[in-house]
Amino acid sequence: MSRTTAFLGLGAMGWPMAAQLARHAGETGGRALVWNRTREKADAHAREFGSEAAELPEVTGANVIFSCLPTSAEVDEVLTALAGQLRPGTVWVDCTSGRPDAARRQAAGLAASGVAFLDAPVSGGPGGAQAGTLAVMVGGDAAVLERVRGDLAFAGKVVHVGETGSGFAVKAINNTLMAVNMWAAGEGLAALARTGVDLHAALEVINAGSGRSYPTETLIPQRVLTREFPLTFQLGLLAKDAGIAAEVVQGAGASAPVLMQVAALYRAAAHTVGAEADYSAALKLVEQLNGTEIK
Ligand code: NDP
Repeated sequence: MSRTTAFLGLGAMGWPMAAQLARHAGETGGRALVWNRTREKADAHAREFGSEAAELPEVTGANVIFSCLPTSAEVDEVLTALAGQLRPGTVWVDCTSGRPDAARRQAAGLAASGVAFLDAPVSGGPGGAQAGTLAVMVGGDAAVLERVRGDLAFAGKVVHVGETGSGFAVKAINNTLMAVNMWAAGEGLAALARTGVDLHAALEVINAGSGRSYPTETLIPQRVLTREFPLTFQLGLLAKDAGIAAEVVQGAGASAPVLMQVAALYRAAAHTVGAEADYSAALKLVEQLNGTEIK
């Protein structure tokens, strides 16, 4: 039976994720609808990938509705706009990096209309979406995931991590671990720069040693040392993720001073460097604190 998917939110992530859905629909005889607040992007997506640009009410005809918006607040806005129009049996897959408490509330609200909800945030960036290799962490009913697993054409790895909200919790912790690594690497490199060490040489050997991480291997060499800071993921969104991680820590009654501290540091970086800068530009605050550049 041919499937219809709908994708809401054609941003840095949604654009290439929805392109994968369009490719999959082309291969399987299905349909891939796309909706974006700014309609022109949906029209451009349809021209480029063969998806179908839709008005918001039209997405209710899909078997599976994906959303990938900045925060759970924008997902709430779209859900409110669609209230009473969704069909029973539909599965809503929210790929936003959202809040666990919002997921629980949204899932309960949708269940009343016979619509299932999965929180299914992704990791791997726009490049991973283009390659169809995103890691997806899914919270919600495992049986519902099996109903839609074949529709996740942008995924390289899909893992069910627990009940509703668990996917968002894991995603927040995942990104905060990356943020910890990036901040710590920035501090270490700023200290080395002040002692006159060549940072390219330092990173070459750190990356052959036990101090290596995704930021030392990829982010810092490609974005910070080059002074390019190309925008793929907004610093404000990473600060949001670290804030969600801090809420997860508090909600769990856990003791996580490093994670809490890093949430505050990225909030400060978003305020000083700019929420719309690329996330790697957080290290400009480390540079200010040290009176040196990481280059
Ligand atoms: P972008 O800022 O690039 O895109 C945001 C999208 O949301 C746009 O399509 C925008 O529409 C839409 N939007 C914004 N506000 C509203 C609103 N009030 N109502 C409806 N639509 C709205 O964000 P990203 O794609 O980078 O991020 C999306 C989510 O994915 C976030 O939760 C982020 O944390 C997460 N994420 C991002 C990654 C990345 O590398 N960028 C990696 C993994 C997860 P419009 O075109 O009209 O502005």
